[in-house]
Amino acid sequence: MSVKELPKAYEPKSVEERWYAFWLEKGYFHSDENAGGEPFSIVIPPPNVTGSLHIGHALNSTLQDILVRWMRMSGRNTLWVPGTDHAGIATQNVVERQLIKEHIDRHALGREKFIEKVWEWKKVYGGRIISQLKRLGASCDWQRERFTMDAGLSRAVREVFVTLYEEELIYRGERLINWCPRCHTALSDIEVEHEDEKGKLYHIAYPLSHDHNIRLTVATTRPETMLGDTAVAVHPLDPRYKDLIGKTIDLPLTTRRIPIIGDSVLVDLEFGTGAVKVTPAHDFNDYEAGQRQIPPLPLISILNEKAEVVPDIPDIKPDVRKQIAWKPAKKVRGIVVEMIKEQGFLVKTEDHSHSIGKCYRCKTVVEPRLSPQWFVKTVPLAEPAIKVVEEGKVQFYPKGWENTYFDWMRNIKDWCISRQIWWGHRIPAWYCKRCDDGILETSIGVGAVGEEGALLSGGGNITTIAINAKPIVQREEPRKCPHCGSTELIQDPDVLDTWFSSALWPFSTLGWPDKTKELASYYPTSVLVTSFDIIFFWVARMIMMGLHSMKEVPFRHVYIHALVRDAEGLKMSKSKGNVIDPLVMIDQYGTDAFRFTLTAFAAQGRDIKMSAERIEGYRNFANKIWNASRFVLMNIEQDFVPNAELLTKGTSLADRWILSRLNTMSKDVHTALAEYRFNDVASSLYQFIWHEYCDWYLELSKPALNQEKGSTSRSAAQTVLAHVLETSLRLLHPIMPFITEEIWQTLPEKVRAQGPGARGNGESIMISSYPIADEKVINAEIEQDMQMVMDTILAIRNIRGEMNIAPSMQINANVKVETEELGEHLQKSASYVMTLSRLKELRIGVDEKKPKSAATGVIKGAEVYVPLEGLLDLTQERDRLQKEIAKISKDIDIFSKKLLNKDFVDKAPKAVVEKDTAKLEEFKVKRDKLEQSLKMLD
Ligand SMILES: [Zn+2]
Ligand SMILES: [Zn+2]
Repeated sequence: MSVKELPKAYEPKSVEERWYAFWLEKGYFHSDENAGGEPFSIVIPPPNVTGSLHIGHALNSTLQDILVRWMRMSGRNTLWVPGTDHAGIATQNVVERQLIKEHIDRHALGREKFIEKVWEWKKVYGGRIISQLKRLGASCDWQRERFTMDAGLSRAVREVFVTLYEEELIYRGERLINWCPRCHTALSDIEVEHEDEKGKLYHIAYPLSHDHNIRLTVATTRPETMLGDTAVAVHPLDPRYKDLIGKTIDLPLTTRRIPIIGDSVLVDLEFGTGAVKVTPAHDFNDYEAGQRQIPPLPLISILNEKAEVVPDIPDIKPDVRKQIAWKPAKKVRGIVVEMIKEQGFLVKTEDHSHSIGKCYRCKTVVEPRLSPQWFVKTVPLAEPAIKVVEEGKVQFYPKGWENTYFDWMRNIKDWCISRQIWWGHRIPAWYCKRCDDGILETSIGVGAVGEEGALLSGGGNITTIAINAKPIVQREEPRKCPHCGSTELIQDPDVLDTWFSSALWPFSTLGWPDKTKELASYYPTSVLVTSFDIIFFWVARMIMMGLHSMKEVPFRHVYIHALVRDAEGLKMSKSKGNVIDPLVMIDQYGTDAFRFTLTAFAAQGRDIKMSAERIEGYRNFANKIWNASRFVLMNIEQDFVPNAELLTKGTSLADRWILSRLNTMSKDVHTALAEYRFNDVASSLYQFIWHEYCDWYLELSKPALNQEKGSTSRSAAQTVLAHVLETSLRLLHPIMPFITEEIWQTLPEKVRAQGPGARGNGESIMISSYPIADEKVINAEIEQDMQMVMDTILAIRNIRGEMNIAPSMQINANVKVETEELGEHLQKSASYVMTLSRLKELRIGVDEKKPKSAATGVIKGAEVYVPLEGLLDLTQERDRLQKEIAKISKDIDIFSKKLLNKDFVDKAPKAVVEKDTAKLEEFKVKRDKLEQSLKMLD
């Protein structure tokens, strides 16, 4: 597989395919749980099985791959567990839509057949995101790929459910929950998205029962829910109304008489009319208020699962019922308003903007709904989970996210874990038909297909189980009822919230509840890499479940990465058309350039602004490395054997300098990796490889390379040149796995396999060792000396450029140094300065004076003079400079005037104004430079 010559240009695609296949074939990604050694383990945040790779996944997986490749090269027993999530509602929706296209309704198909269809769908499409992760270069242990609905993981789910139930940490209760009328399922609080919407506020007058002339005015955004009112609340200290507490109201449109109650929580004395309608079945605050009353207020639900008005609302007047039964709530609102207006109960209507909750999956307005559900009692689980973070057993990077975590955990509510859909882990609870006549079996509407195949009705289980039914909860499906022996059992139709199984991911993927070798070797995992938006959904619940089931935290570190935005800092979205598709970028610029860009911008606590131009910029970096490697290979024979003695010191200042810089950089890279400062890792490598190794060392080594074959200085330069390249490639490998492998494999065998700490016999860079800095080679003095040499060369080159001195022309330079010592150091390296700035003569000294008509450059510790006499016609040069200054001054005038014109600045697009401002600045800098050059001629 080793081509010993690099082609002219780097072609990512074929290289990537070839090496990924090679790594897979060799089994490098696979970890051995019996191998021993210090473990390093990561579980991937499982992408939805419906997913396709977006830029967030790309960032997340790149950062994990960097850590995993780094640790694997560092000799740790490294495991990266990949897998996908069954994604309950999302997957069910996708398959339902597909069936609808074939004119098949889920309910007509039946539960079992439908689940079969989902598995068929998964077989065909479920691997898509996995193959996309492979294109990204992810070195996951694919032999351990898991799916949250695998048999093993399902067993873990059942074990945790039953254990928590036995410990009374899972219970069934009737609660007001968030209900999506389209998906027909409960949603947890965090699955509801809140949006501001413009609506109306209706003021309605409720007549008192004992005197219809006295009325209490209530305000509501949802007048239709008045049909479910079971009280009106006032503040117990309100002087206007406190005497009315205990009296009743005749609720319009019904024959219902409802009490006036006192509630200081629900009613704000300072706000509104002072009276509030109470609808406990349709509002969370009202529900709480109802529960505070003794006895609790009755609950009257006026809507069905589809948010339609039910026909049997208690006490409703027959003519009202006729007009509203079976109609959607939104329509009924208008009808109710018309009726109360006719009957004189509507006081006024005003515009009002308020927040409404929507389903995070389908954006349908969520209805609070009273229904039997399963809950996890979270407070006892949250307490230890808070403690481990307080004690530093789990650490967040950046640390600020710990506050977010604490805020949520300290105010945690019980977690509603049942979902009324079909795709997911079925709740392991059964009911006996004979023992329990409280079981209700109701059939709810069959999903209807609207125009253009739009889905009108989503989930919904055919059977609902009454709240007072007694569940039989156990690990194995019961054959008969333990109480009466009947075999007529039915299973709870609900499935678990998708996040229930993901909460177990760090240990269920390693074989729990069995006591496996994998668990012993790799749990707790080392670090979790994820984004901030799932700290509640996922991170917190993994900590709670890990502590409960494993008695140990699931991971030591949590690295929270930023969001990837577009170049302007806007969130990427399909509707804005600013989405960057990772696969398109990979095709266009290569995986390595794409990965490097993500890494370079992954600064902690800062969002990433991404654009194709930036990726293109880092493709240039890949090409730079490629070309430098071609240069090295052209100067080193394939049978080259590095001179071990010279490996850490070379023979020249340049050798010692680049070796010192290499080790300094390698030290920085280590520290940054250990602290998850990925951007610093990238920038250290970029600066060193491009600006020190390629820009300087390659040039500085040329004279030695041109020496006779076999000479010590040539062999030293070859040794250092190859060693620094080889080490840099290994340091860079975790970020740019493909190009580094391709180049590394073309290096002479002895360079690959015999470097310090070499492992893996030169077979692959990915199983070689990760370089560790040799502190002894780091030499600050040498770095300083070389810095002065480079500064001097740059100053002379700069003057050459400014003064239009032909590159071929040899010139003289004088350097006035601040101390004798500096002079001595520079004198030793005079040959570098002479060669790299094409000098005829170089004078160095503390007494050097500025010659007449000389250009000056100021550097640290010295001034550099280049005499111009005789190099150019001074008069002609003066003329040229003056003409240029005049011309640019005109431009400056024009742009200044334009930008002072308020009319222009106000009306022109922001980008245009910004561009002009930048241009003006650029002109000014240029004029300064020209003026300086002019001065030098005196
Ligand atoms: Zn929905
Ligand atoms: Zn029974």
